[in-house]
Amino acid sequence: MTGSSIKAEKGNTPLHQLTFKEAIDYSKKEGNKTLFDALISRAESLNPRLNAFLRFNKSDSPPHPSPVTGPLAGVPISIKDNICIRGLETTCASKILAGHVPPYDATVIEKLKTAGATLFSQCNMDEFAFGSSNESSAFGPVKNPWDIERVPGGSSGGSAAAVAADMTYAALGSDTGGSIRQPAAFCGIVGLKPTYGRISRYGLIAFGSSFDQIGPLTKTVEDCAILMNILAGHDSRDSTSAPNPVPDYTKALTQQIKGLKIGLPKEYFVEGMDKEVEKSVRDAAEIFKKLGAEIKPVSLPHTEYSVAVYYIVAVAEASSNLGRFDGVEFGFRVPAKDLKEMYFETRSQGFGAEAKRRILLGTFVLSAGYYEAYYLKGQKVRTLIREDFTQAFKEVDLILSPTAPTPPFKIGEKSSDPLAMYLSDIFTIPVNLAGIPAMSLPCGFTKSGLPIGMQLMAKPFDEETIFRAGHAFEQETGYYKQKPKL
Ligand code: GLN
Repeated sequence: MTGSSIKAEKGNTPLHQLTFKEAIDYSKKEGNKTLFDALISRAESLNPRLNAFLRFNKSDSPPHPSPVTGPLAGVPISIKDNICIRGLETTCASKILAGHVPPYDATVIEKLKTAGATLFSQCNMDEFAFGSSNESSAFGPVKNPWDIERVPGGSSGGSAAAVAADMTYAALGSDTGGSIRQPAAFCGIVGLKPTYGRISRYGLIAFGSSFDQIGPLTKTVEDCAILMNILAGHDSRDSTSAPNPVPDYTKALTQQIKGLKIGLPKEYFVEGMDKEVEKSVRDAAEIFKKLGAEIKPVSLPHTEYSVAVYYIVAVAEASSNLGRFDGVEFGFRVPAKDLKEMYFETRSQGFGAEAKRRILLGTFVLSAGYYEAYYLKGQKVRTLIREDFTQAFKEVDLILSPTAPTPPFKIGEKSSDPLAMYLSDIFTIPVNLAGIPAMSLPCGFTKSGLPIGMQLMAKPFDEETIFRAGHAFEQETGYYKQKPKL
């Protein structure tokens, strides 16, 4: 039986096309077995082409043909391969972690299991989350479901492609400089990077510890709110997680946006940016106006330094976080005549080119004599960038920008030019430097049918305003209903 021939009871929607919310409602009545069957046949036919999943989870509790309880009702969900799942290989799409089986669950995994979700599969990604195209995975690139000659974005490219292709109902990703939002934009779905500290990172394999956040990639804004209700909150095992109370995010979806002030930062509409991207974000501002919001110009004057600061601070943190992968405790090891040679050979053979580039850059900026000139200076400029947002949010409730300066680019187009690749995160990186929350959601398509995403940024811990505006926009435009032709 093929995925498309398995129909839902109500209406004519094939089961794999249900939203996460619809799948939960379905499973509460009919059980989750048919949902699994639908996704498995969908994935069997598409994964060989898209390469979005690295592994399927066969050890979970078997799906039921009778009603399932719990807030997430046994619905299948997929996990980026840098989030630890007890008893399942977790590799960060790197050869150096091949065979690594964590003996514990990340807090988010524990929460999903408690809420009754079923872990369906683990998603491909850029190696150690280094990248914007998913080309740096040790297990091959992921393809964009809207055009398989193009990248799905990165580093959560597998998570985004799988959700967009209806191979899963929702996925978790991680975002250090844009890795949830940029792939969400490139694949025409919703992706939220929550406020730094909103979700526990216990069990997330660290990249840049002062940036990393876990977040959902979903088909709709409502699905994202449902997941945030489960994932958010303080965790004593992650000292950076915040004690702030967790609101019911789904309540924000029903609120009007009349009177909301939305800022358009002039520094985000720059010379050389893609005209179709610019137009669809400006059109989105008009739609918000029509819905009753007030659009105001704002300025984030230090934006131009963001990419440079990020590629100093984030690589410094990455180089020290990756120090632990030396063949002793985790995964892959090259046998050698002595310890030094074992370290050397394991790291030389285990890490891919982009990981090595970052380890070298990070080690350099942290080395004696350069620390003050690079790392310390970078942290100071980071404070200025954060201050820009604090000032802007005195005037507005939300800031609207494109998520990425271009639509999805061709596979191979930027892979030999790291700088061009790094610049594709120019609009997402400032958000991580400032620690604020931001969502990417669909705001249109190019003439050739490629998705375009816009970014809504808010004050720290004000995800609710993002949900409110995002949902109103989504309901007004209905872009989420368009599907890639696969
Ligand atoms: N593309 C950015 C980088 O390569 C961001 C990655 C991420 O958010 N994990 O570092």
